[in-house]
Amino acid sequence: MDFTKVSENLKARGYAVQCFATAREAADYLNGAIDGVSVGFGGSMTLEQMGLFERLSGHNRALWHWREGTAEDPRKEALTADVYVTSVNGMDEDGDLINIDGAGNRVAATLFGHRKVYFVVGRNKLAPTYEEALWRARNISAPKNAQRLQRKTPCAAKGDKCYDCKSPERICRGLVVLWKPMMGMEAEVVLVDEDLGY
Ligand code: SF4
Repeated sequence: MDFTKVSENLKARGYAVQCFATAREAADYLNGAIDGVSVGFGGSMTLEQMGLFERLSGHNRALWHWREGTAEDPRKEALTADVYVTSVNGMDEDGDLINIDGAGNRVAATLFGHRKVYFVVGRNKLAPTYEEALWRARNISAPKNAQRLQRKTPCAAKGDKCYDCKSPERICRGLVVLWKPMMGMEAEVVLVDEDLGY
């Protein structure tokens, strides 16, 4: 995939950008760039597939609620880690970063509390327009996450689209769209030319 246009647009918005052909190369890069710090992880199948926690935890204080015993309350401690790593549910070619969250820790951590945030984005997350990126976040990412979490929601039962449900187990509670990096925090987008997460 040609990341030229989206890279230029992201840089114009103030993001640092790195592009890699493979998840392995991206993981190698992040493993070198994040060293000797505390690093929080957002709930992310992208990061899981990259094996990033296992690599970074060897030489950083790595905090992830998807791993036992990293902290008493890893989600809370991750909120003020030096560095935070996560992905997005959708991104458009203009450079809008879209995330939907249930508990809110992941989206909150993209807004405040760190020296730097990294967004690791596989090519499957990229859509031409904001409307299409939002559509994929709502109709692809969220239903697949609901299925993964075995929620009693229509999207998890059918796996085809969002039903904008009123289920008590609805995982879609808040939407954050980043137009630019937040003030006072560095942000970098790591683009990977492979499908990663959902
Ligand atoms: S709003 Fe409900 S139906 Fe739609 S994706 Fe979220 S959990 Fe599924």
